[in-house]
Amino acid sequence: MKLYKRLFIDGEWAEASGSGRFDVIHSVTEEVMGRVPEGTSHDAARAVEAARAAFDSWAATPRDVRAMYLTRIHEGVVARTEELAATVTGEVGVPLQTSVVVQVGHPANTAKAYAELLDEYSFEQRIGHSLVVREPVGVVACITPWNFPLHQAMAKVAPALAAGCTVVLKPSEVAPLTAFALAEIIDAAGLPRGVFNLVSGTGATVGEALAGHDQVDMVSFTGSTRAGRRVSEVAARTIKRVAVELGGKSACIILDDAPLEQAVTAGLANCFRNCGQTCSAWSRMLVPRAKYAAAVEIAKRAAEALDVGDPRVDGTDLGPLASALQRDRVRSYISTGIEEGATLVTGGPKPPPGLIKGYYVSPTVFANVHNTMTIAREEVFGPVLCLIAHDSDDDAVRLANDSIYGLSAGVWSADSKRADAVARRLRTGQVDIN
Ligand code: NAD
Repeated sequence: MKLYKRLFIDGEWAEASGSGRFDVIHSVTEEVMGRVPEGTSHDAARAVEAARAAFDSWAATPRDVRAMYLTRIHEGVVARTEELAATVTGEVGVPLQTSVVVQVGHPANTAKAYAELLDEYSFEQRIGHSLVVREPVGVVACITPWNFPLHQAMAKVAPALAAGCTVVLKPSEVAPLTAFALAEIIDAAGLPRGVFNLVSGTGATVGEALAGHDQVDMVSFTGSTRAGRRVSEVAARTIKRVAVELGGKSACIILDDAPLEQAVTAGLANCFRNCGQTCSAWSRMLVPRAKYAAAVEIAKRAAEALDVGDPRVDGTDLGPLASALQRDRVRSYISTGIEEGATLVTGGPKPPPGLIKGYYVSPTVFANVHNTMTIAREEVFGPVLCLIAHDSDDDAVRLANDSIYGLSAGVWSADSKRADAVARRLRTGQVDIN
């Protein structure tokens, strides 16, 4: 049980101004695994003031000193890898080995990468008679989701600190514990007071207080479209920079010359990574109509071969989802898919056999999915794959782009030129080929 009774503000572990607390629930045992303070808008304002006061001197700190602090943060995360990985596995449900490599390894590497980048990055560039100077934007509010909790925090905090910005971090109330561990690591690394601040709380109170604060120069938000829209609205009143990374309904396009077995298996693995709780998951698989039946069989076999169970046990492929709310949402999407006429190939809304406790969802594959169905349009955020038939490369591009989202995609082909041509027509931020 991890009990955090204080927030981290102005270099100190500070009492929250309210008496509220959040219980953090273990995804497998459904028991309370930790507790953090529920901060208020007053706490958010205190943290912003501290970050503002620290900004000028942090921005003027030599880059090698900032790199030294980031290296210490990297070392601090590495030293606590096992404990942090177990925490994320409890919060999110991801298998422990994946947690070590992805949930903790990535953020550790992120801190190191920014320390190294400071060595070579050119903050000034002369172009003709002009000098272009890259300056830190100021106080950055970082608002993060629960699915990769430490990674999302580090992916915002490390570059901000490297650039010379000061930070207020507000983690997700569902999975806040590794943000508190990060604050301990930063505290131990000896950063000047006020450079990094941590305020837990709800989105509606602390999140909006930060997004709307006139002393916050930038808000960097990752989460749902709903909350991102609200953050943008609230931030607009005080004219600040806003970066939003939102949801996805990404397509994996399999062209007719692709190695089918490999493409379907890898596509399904991508969709089910982190138990489907990944923004960039390839949740729509677009398959040539002539190979559709074979692709459905391969996907069924691959899904049924997955070892679903306790993510703390070696060899588990798929653990539970992060919360009861998320489990219920995903099961309800599965029921909607059935009601709207998609063919349930495997899985379904019932829990996997024998897994009554823990927020488990059966790995689910749908065939005969039409791109207009709810399960093809909305982000399910669970282990649910939709197979959709396409008739040509053009048709596949049309289907992939027929989405309100534009986060990620995959293209599979034996011909790299053809794959490249398809990838370039996809209106997404990122495309993986083969
Ligand atoms: P969420 O939007 O519910 O919450 C994200 C964060 O925003 C939390 O800290 C929450 O407290 C805060 N928040 C909620 N309402 C707010 C408001 N009105 N004002 C300010 N802050 C508010 O999302 P979630 O359920 O934690 O995460 C899942 C979502 O995140 C999915 O949609 C997923 O696709 C997305 N995501 C996107 C990326 C990406 O890089 N694009 C990465 C990971 C997750």
